[in-house]
Amino acid sequence: MLALYAATSNAGKLAEFQAAARQASAPLLVEAVPGMASLPACVEDGLTFEENARIKAAHYSGLAGGLIFADDSGLEVQTLGGAPGVHSARYSGPGATDARNNDKLLAALRDLEPDRRQARFVCFIALAEAGSVLAVFRGAAEGVILDAPRGSNGFGYDPLFLFPPLGRTFAELAREEKLQFSHRGRAFRALLSWLSAKC
Ligand code: IMP
Repeated sequence: MLALYAATSNAGKLAEFQAAARQASAPLLVEAVPGMASLPACVEDGLTFEENARIKAAHYSGLAGGLIFADDSGLEVQTLGGAPGVHSARYSGPGATDARNNDKLLAALRDLEPDRRQARFVCFIALAEAGSVLAVFRGAAEGVILDAPRGSNGFGYDPLFLFPPLGRTFAELAREEKLQFSHRGRAFRALLSWLSAKC
């Protein structure tokens, strides 16, 4: 069984990657990079999701052995010129929380019609070994930002992100269901296809 190490200290993301590997029946063991918390962090100063995913994957694979992947993701709202984008986690400034980020997003879109509330979740995953990036994968999910939160699953902007094909927000989906449609699930399945073609 192939071991794949996720360069993340976000338990929710790790659980999503593990669930996606199970869903795909991939002969893979997905674990966090061993000792991740004690490794020196890297500066995520890329201007794009792809750059940040590459920076993290190259950094951690230079410090730990094996096949290592890192993701960078966020929400792009067309009306806001692509914001919050790479600043999604800290959209509301120092001390940002999911609740404050969501409040700021609601305020930025207040009174706008649905056709001006279109948004996209984007995820880039970079796979690396020994400090070199081997490949990069992208996944996206298109939706609409509601004017009030719905649902209690997931994290981040999930309660505001309506996924029109299902008529539900990502926070109203079970983890496995969200993965079928989410940016992260799509990017990770692209990684799995690449691996299965290589191995
Ligand atoms: P990062 O990839 O850890 O830098 O996360 C970026 C931020 O984007 C998160 O803190 C969330 O605010 C947002 N985000 C990324 N993916 C999701 C998702 O699947 N649901 C909701 N918010 C997300």
